[in-house]
Amino acid sequence: MALIVHKYGGTSMGSTERIRSVAQRVAKWARAGHQMVVVPSAMSGETNRLLGLAKELLPNANTPEALRELDAVAATGEQVSVGLLALALQAQGVPAVSYGGWQVAIETDSAFTKARISRIDDDKVRADLSAGKVVIITGFQGIDSEGNVTTLGRGGSDTSAVAVAAALKADECLIYTDVDGVYTTDPRIVPEARRLATISFEEMLEMASLGSKVLQIRSVEFAGKYRVPLRVLSSFTPWDIDIQEEANSGTLITFEEDEKMEKAVVAGIAFNRDEAKISVIGVPDRPGIAFSILGPVADANIDIDVIIQNVSHDGKTDFSFTVHRNDYTRTVDVLRNKVLPAIGAAEVRGDTKICKVSIVGIGMRSHVGVASKMFRTLSEEGINIQMITTSEIKTSVVLDEKYMELAVRALHKAFGLDNEAIAEG
Ligand code: ADP
Ligand code: ASP
Ligand code: MG
Repeated sequence: MALIVHKYGGTSMGSTERIRSVAQRVAKWARAGHQMVVVPSAMSGETNRLLGLAKELLPNANTPEALRELDAVAATGEQVSVGLLALALQAQGVPAVSYGGWQVAIETDSAFTKARISRIDDDKVRADLSAGKVVIITGFQGIDSEGNVTTLGRGGSDTSAVAVAAALKADECLIYTDVDGVYTTDPRIVPEARRLATISFEEMLEMASLGSKVLQIRSVEFAGKYRVPLRVLSSFTPWDIDIQEEANSGTLITFEEDEKMEKAVVAGIAFNRDEAKISVIGVPDRPGIAFSILGPVADANIDIDVIIQNVSHDGKTDFSFTVHRNDYTRTVDVLRNKVLPAIGAAEVRGDTKICKVSIVGIGMRSHVGVASKMFRTLSEEGINIQMITTSEIKTSVVLDEKYMELAVRALHKAFGLDNEAIAEG
């Protein structure tokens, strides 16, 4: 008998029919003798719908008071899911009880819309498990020390599930979704993408942080910190497939390096359209200038990603960096109002139509020429690279948004990731 956490995403919970199928699957695991905790997301489209309603009433909800209410609204999607799933299990004759994050409690800080879990009180859950019940806990939701409902950021149910698994020291956390594992890149963009039977924790962390939304980055961080055995698999297989076969399907996130295994240099390609580029033109090139520009941006609590400073001509240079698109207007305001007058630069230019494409692989540590192959591939496609950033196991480039899919497909092929059987067949 093992303690298992299942997480089901929005599409997996998308209708009462889908919820019934989830209940049948969970019942199968419970009847096999496992203690089961299930963490579902809101039904697909529901969180967007709720946030859309909120936006109709207050288009720019960004004060702490407004963000608190956004969370109060958004958290209701998961509230409905847990109750429905508990009913569906009871209909199968399986004892089940549902809890909101505030009832467990899943304690978080007060950073509304992107709260971080600080502690999980698992007494109630353990008692229910011992009493033979399936425990269903809302994804995405938490409660702060003042008793306010919080949410963990979009895609946060993954993090709820892994955090619950860590707190309970679960034997495994299974993330059921609408694809049958982690692929070399998003299969919606590249049909030739291949499913990976395993991916190293470090690669998964990079893929998630660089835009592969199959797992929320924080869930991967949690899994690494607490060594939670984590697997991504499909909820769209027939619910009654052999449980052993199911338990071994999908993609396992691995923590140990298998030295003997011949690994691809590049494991996968990630991309996102979440960033915007901002350039400060005609900056006097003198010591401390990067701090003069980025200090006020950081003070405004805005995260900066890729940065480049050009060579100077006649004592002047251009300085560019990227921020999240949601922070674009605020960043330009800070620069125009605070930075330009202080440093005497010429102007601020912005571009929201960019994308970031990244190649990721632990093999890049021991192979040279990987980044140059990336640059050559893009140049052969006539794609101009606007910015570059590298770390030990990834290289990212910032491109015009219109080239994103072309770049991802070309790189996927160039690094030998295409599924030949499908490509040729
Ligand atoms: P859920 O609602 O189950 O949490 P998500 O939509 O958040 O599902 O995540 C699953 C989706 O992630 C897939 O449908 C797929 O389009 C996308 N995705 C992006 N990158 C990858 C990748 N490398 N491998 C698999 N899926 C990916
Ligand atoms: N329902 C939330 C969202 O849509 C959380 C999740 O699905 O993981 O972002
Ligand atoms: Mg998700």
